[in-house]
Amino acid sequence: MSDDLSPRIELAVRDVVSRLIPVNVSARHLHITQEHLEILFGRGTQLTKLRALMQPGEFAANETVAVVGPNKRVFETVRILGPTRSRTQVELSFNDGRYIGLDLPARLSGNIAGSSPITLIGPKGVLQLEEGAIRALRHIHMNAGDAARLGVQNGAIVGVKTVGPMSVTFNGVLIRVGTKALVEMHVDTDEANAAGLPPHSLGFLTEGGSR
Ligand SMILES: [Zn+2]
Repeated sequence: MSDDLSPRIELAVRDVVSRLIPVNVSARHLHITQEHLEILFGRGTQLTKLRALMQPGEFAANETVAVVGPNKRVFETVRILGPTRSRTQVELSFNDGRYIGLDLPARLSGNIAGSSPITLIGPKGVLQLEEGAIRALRHIHMNAGDAARLGVQNGAIVGVKTVGPMSVTFNGVLIRVGTKALVEMHVDTDEANAAGLPPHSLGFLTEGGSR
């Protein structure tokens, strides 16, 4: 092996590694306003942390609610992800929606206008929301530095090819740039199961972003 080959290999490896994207699976969950939290859990309730999530400041809370669909079927313990937000939003998979009688719209997180109605039951109260249930669009979190390095912008639609024996390419993946965000792709359980993805997978950006 010539002496100048190994630095080139190292650079090539570094380049590949720098483009690897962790792909994590979001199980059904909800985000909640402080007002709604207090309706369901009682006045003055604060979310308590079960474990930290990969995105800085985000956590899985100990608090869970029952989610009831229009056909009266129930998911009994749906976890709240904190901190509290300005809107209450329930994120389910397509199959979850079918089970509880909803044809869920695929939405960017936070865009819930006209989304599906849903009922939430907590230990101290019930909330009947006229909208708020969605299937979250698959997306990648990152900060501005990562976006520049990967050559993408906030709101761009990209493709991601997963690594592994059942590799697939996800198209229509939304780039979400946040100030403190770490690079992480989120898919729902339907997508992960259909693609044979284990809980912690890796992928690469591809050209095929059309949808
Ligand atoms: Zn996400």
